[in-house]
Amino acid sequence: MKQSRLLIQTLRETPRDADVVSQQLMIRAGMIQKAAAGIYSYLPLAYRSIRKFEEIVREELARDGCQELLMPSVLPAELWQESGRWTFYGDELLRFCDRKAKAEIAERRGRGETPDERSFYNFCLGPTHEEVITDIVRKNVRSYKQLPMNLFQIQTKFRDERRPRFGLMRGREFTMKDGYSFHVDDPDADREYWAMFNAYKRIFGRLGVKFRPVEADSGAIGGSFTHEFHVLAGSGEDAILSCDACEYTSNIEKTEAPALPFAYAQEAVLPLKPSHFATPGVIAMEDQARAFKDAEHDGLPPDHASKFYLLDVTSRIQDEVVGESTQRIGLVIRADHEPNFVKLRNLLGAEAVELTAIEVAEEMAGAKSGFIGPVELNVPIYVDRSLEGAFNLTCGANRTDYHHFGFKPDRDLKQFQGFHDLRMAQEGDTCPRCGKGRYQAFRGIEVGQVFKLGTKYSKSMGCTFLDDQGREHPMVMGCYGIGITRTVAAAIEQNYDADGILWPWPIAPYQIHLLNLDPGNAEVATVADRVERELEAAGFEVLHDDREGLSPGAKFKDADLLGFPLRLMVGSKGLKDGVVELRDRRTKAVVKFKPEGAVAEVAAARNRILEALEAAGGR
Ligand code: ATP
Ligand code: MG
Repeated sequence: MKQSRLLIQTLRETPRDADVVSQQLMIRAGMIQKAAAGIYSYLPLAYRSIRKFEEIVREELARDGCQELLMPSVLPAELWQESGRWTFYGDELLRFCDRKAKAEIAERRGRGETPDERSFYNFCLGPTHEEVITDIVRKNVRSYKQLPMNLFQIQTKFRDERRPRFGLMRGREFTMKDGYSFHVDDPDADREYWAMFNAYKRIFGRLGVKFRPVEADSGAIGGSFTHEFHVLAGSGEDAILSCDACEYTSNIEKTEAPALPFAYAQEAVLPLKPSHFATPGVIAMEDQARAFKDAEHDGLPPDHASKFYLLDVTSRIQDEVVGESTQRIGLVIRADHEPNFVKLRNLLGAEAVELTAIEVAEEMAGAKSGFIGPVELNVPIYVDRSLEGAFNLTCGANRTDYHHFGFKPDRDLKQFQGFHDLRMAQEGDTCPRCGKGRYQAFRGIEVGQVFKLGTKYSKSMGCTFLDDQGREHPMVMGCYGIGITRTVAAAIEQNYDADGILWPWPIAPYQIHLLNLDPGNAEVATVADRVERELEAAGFEVLHDDREGLSPGAKFKDADLLGFPLRLMVGSKGLKDGVVELRDRRTKAVVKFKPEGAVAEVAAARNRILEALEAAGGR
């Protein structure tokens, strides 16, 4: 391919509104173009990488007998109402109505009514396809003999993200591989789960990026068991903790925090008495304990300070598809810990846990925020297990400018709900799984996720099969996603230097950047054209920079920015000595050889690159 014909505009300057490296480099390298917030066109170079990654995904899934199909991106509300998610999915689901519904709205308006337009929405853009695939399978599969079945698609998804950003990493429109499997029973669904887990390891391993499978929270989609696959990169939005002694690796949302002994057990337990001490202006939670002063104490260690959260919990009404209820609860943790609302949500089996609005909390407690505490409050209160056995704690006194001293959770709470693991684990915590190692922290970009779904969708949507006795059962399901476009961006987040991208060979838009350094020179052009043909005939992908009127320096800069693994330079200076030059983008190693040796030398360089990739083993 001649670069003079390629649709590409490279930029020297970093675009102002690009916040992460992949976004900056993809824009500078002319790979993507924004159409609207979080909505991008994939220009030819980016699309080549995306398609290469898709092919890797297809090849590996084919090895496990998965079948590819393609579902619509515009989905009818009825299917989403059947599963209940029309109500519960939230504002990421872009809902709208078609012309028939619009005509009805217009007609009602004509009659002087003021209909609520939202109640006429009858379609949405698909953010994920559990409903559609379940509908397909319930209509096409009847017998246990047809199961198991694993179906996937590679398709454009739309999620109206609250904060679309980071280019392809968090778009509103993006490409996802989503797969769904159907089984006669749990053990078979488990078998498929691990088959997909291993397929994902092969897929990300082939990509040549460092990644980790991590235990994860199952989130709003529901389900019992799940792993996320993360590409490790400093810019990742997710925090991952990994034990340095055992295999345990998990998303911090779900990482088990060890129980901690209360350090000051030698002190006498104070009886419960209203023991308020004045703390005007003490807002930072950690300062509470230090601010406590009496005849014996001149401040307390920070693990004597507790903090308290009032929370609104939203739950689905049991066995009803539509309808939810809200309840107010409290959470107490050590002041120097961070709360983990995901753990709390899972403990409660709730849909969502959110902070109560400040005004509401202040009114309930009769004190300003910063001085709100759990003692005397008549709501169910959950306590983090690091406070098990703790006493003489400080907490807000429900009186502005005062804290309470002498708090002992299991004794003093009106509606004590027990000690549970409800805090964020931290780097350096002892791993509770093996009891030996300590947690190390990583940042990761979630590029894929495997879920065991169970019967959530098959039950609500009546997706059943008949067993060998003719009895009807709901199918057991799994679902498996890969963010195709996010993965390509994540590969860049992990592989770049000051000059540009360092493409992993398997998804480089082209493998070889052939630079004609003297396009005006007929001999150079002849050699460059011949080398291009020979390399292409040998199966290599070549972008030939034949552009005229550009200095070699400008071509080098563009080549570094585009970052294809190998750069082959043909110029009059080299040809005078009878040689061309091959440069490895990552190692910067250079070899010179006769133009006739190009195919063999490029093949040798490719083998070195692939060996290094294999040695890295995707870890
Ligand atoms: P996130 O937590 O990052 O919002 P998610 O867990 O909601 O993602 P899934 O429903 O698991 O996403 O979707 C499968 C995959 O699709 C994700 O692992 C991710 O790689 C990709 N993906 C999800 N949301 C986006 C997005 N807004 N832009 C690009 N890729 C996305
Ligand atoms: Mg996910």
